[in-house]
Amino acid sequence: MEPETLAQAGTEETTGGDPATLKNYIGGRWVESAASETIDDIDPATGEVLARVPLSTTADVDAAAAAARAAQPAWAALAVAKRARAVFALREALWAHQDELTRLVTQDMGKALDDARGEVGRGIESTENACGIPNLLKGETLEGVATGVDVEMWRQPVGVVAAITPFNFPAMIPLWFLPYAIACGNTFILKPSERDPRTSQRIVELIDGIDQIPAGVVNLLHGAHEAVDGLLDHPEIDAISFVGQATTALHVMERGTKSGKRVQALGGAKNSMVVMDDADLDLAVPAMMQSAFGNAGQRCLAGSVAVVVGDEARREEVRSALAEAASTLPTGNGSEEGVVCPPMVGADARDRVSDAVDRAVGEGSEVVVDGRDRTNDAGALMGPTIVTAPDLESELAREELFGPVLALVEVDDLDSALDFVNASRYGNASVIFTASGEAVRRFRHEVEAGMVGVNVGVPAPVAWFPFAGWKDSMVGDLHANGHDAVEFYTRKKVVTSRWQPAKKGAAFGTH
Ligand code: NAD
Repeated sequence: MEPETLAQAGTEETTGGDPATLKNYIGGRWVESAASETIDDIDPATGEVLARVPLSTTADVDAAAAAARAAQPAWAALAVAKRARAVFALREALWAHQDELTRLVTQDMGKALDDARGEVGRGIESTENACGIPNLLKGETLEGVATGVDVEMWRQPVGVVAAITPFNFPAMIPLWFLPYAIACGNTFILKPSERDPRTSQRIVELIDGIDQIPAGVVNLLHGAHEAVDGLLDHPEIDAISFVGQATTALHVMERGTKSGKRVQALGGAKNSMVVMDDADLDLAVPAMMQSAFGNAGQRCLAGSVAVVVGDEARREEVRSALAEAASTLPTGNGSEEGVVCPPMVGADARDRVSDAVDRAVGEGSEVVVDGRDRTNDAGALMGPTIVTAPDLESELAREELFGPVLALVEVDDLDSALDFVNASRYGNASVIFTASGEAVRRFRHEVEAGMVGVNVGVPAPVAWFPFAGWKDSMVGDLHANGHDAVEFYTRKKVVTSRWQPAKKGAAFGTH
């Protein structure tokens, strides 16, 4: 049975218009959390409370881990083609509910409908890639490593996998992990962001309606720090996929590996966009607007520093082109047609970013475009803001603000641009706008980043390639998506075999 709406399965009955309290999904059943505390999931466009999110306890973690562990052997024993078909059924369900998931993303965390549609589409692409699991899982063989001896390498599931995900891509990031993990024969626990978990809730409701995915294979656990730490410590959990802030990534890596788990932890970012003096501004500036202000700058790939290369006249030309575009950029609630810069996830986030701009101004920044005075009913909107960096090591130039703020840095040449970019402690993404093949060749070779863009503002994740950053933007080694996902969710086993003839002198295999 496939539930029609959120209120039907994963939520408690609403009474008198009160927002519903979400339920966990454990062992194929929707169950109330043992939590005594909840926090509110709000619509950043209106301030309306959409749901109450239980802050699950270690008792809930125990239940989810036990259910996932119990389901894992039978799931792993299923023919790989059947697991592929189960993931394909998930792909079909996501495809059929794209519009609904898109609207949920916009309502829950604010981003514009076009962006939300894009992220749901990327999540579906990861699911599609995982449908090819029989091919992706194939191992290696070498015949005759010694006389009569052959060696094979198999991939077997790691066991129970938990994913801990951030607020800014509530559809796409869970789908970087879930389809690959279960396709490889693992069972799965998803702990979505407590700020906007209703998209995950809906995806799991869809899974509940798919007969090929048995109870316990996918579990959903709501909550925040206690739930995360419970997952990190739990002896029945074998691997952790994490995405969030750099400090949380480090915590997850340290605590998860301490209890012997395999961990991949993708962290924060501060991404530069280098604008060379030969770049076509008609192409570069719109791409930079999308990168800096799309999703209100709440993307790990957001270009948050413009590094402008050139003389005084060129700097002035770029500055005024950026200022004009930013001050006319469609800004407002994400469900309004054509909006590029939507509200941030909440008023607290908006205030934090606005305060950082105030501090930069105190340190000598010049405000080129000021969005601090623009807001909406929920107090979560901030307009596109462009500010010169007070100096190259300032908070504005170096720290992740995760809001609609573009810092301006001006340098003389590509050498200085690369020096600035590579001095960052982060290395998620970097892009260059130029017409010069020579500059591109140097940039893509020398820049220290996991994702590199050439004349594109956002070098977005592509399902068939690994996705992650370098340096403090990622702890661990295997990236998300692509073949790295299969590497992360499997253990390699090497089998060395010698088959002797049954009797001395008898031909092997002829009796
Ligand atoms: P966050 O680190 O606050 O939260 C991420 C997850 O960790 C949530 O599920 C949360 O409940 C949990 N968590 C947070 N603090 C914790 C703590 N102290 N102990 C235990 N659990 C904790 O991240 P966020 O604000 O939701 O997301 C935004 C961040 O994610 C930004 O820094 C952004 O750059 C980063 N991000 C990175 C990528 C990437 O691919 N590198 C992608 C998207 C977002």
